[in-house]
Amino acid sequence: MTAPMASLLDDDRPDEGVLWRWVWASVRPVLGYVFVATGLILLLTAYLGVSREVLVAKQLPYLVSGGLFGLAAVTLGSRLLLIEDLRRDSGRLDRLEKAVVELHAALLTRPDAPDTGASVPGATANGHEKVEYLLALAGSQSFHRQDCPMVAGKSTAETLTASAARSKGLKACRMCQPLVTGV
Ligand SMILES: [Zn+2]
Repeated sequence: MTAPMASLLDDDRPDEGVLWRWVWASVRPVLGYVFVATGLILLLTAYLGVSREVLVAKQLPYLVSGGLFGLAAVTLGSRLLLIEDLRRDSGRLDRLEKAVVELHAALLTRPDAPDTGASVPGATANGHEKVEYLLALAGSQSFHRQDCPMVAGKSTAETLTASAARSKGLKACRMCQPLVTGV
């Protein structure tokens, strides 16, 4: 722990953000519980204070400080816990999506998978077995195989070759992976 801290102190400015992000990342998971616990203690204090005081005027300070701040702390705490939960969920989704993409790639590169050049009807009909015609949707950042479900039934799809797609700066679709078997 001493070495990273020393390097943090050496070049002061830019690494300050890294330090605080690290502090935040390590505090974040427990912060919600801390807020909820603090809020419950405040509420309990307020309840005990109110129940001891007979005069309404003397109950008010307990209600305001303990009651309001207690409620606010509990609300904030449970919201933080919820955010933390959602963050974990989205991490799980990312991993799941990655796994599906890898599985898809593995299936497509199987030796018995259909040859992409021959599997594209337009390409064989024109007698261009070597050239795979790809599709790109207008305004989209990626290009697809002709049989990709992402472009199925889309009338705005534009036919283009792989080199044309690359020169336009388009990225290969992650679902159909047009360049996996090489073009
Ligand atoms: Zn696609």
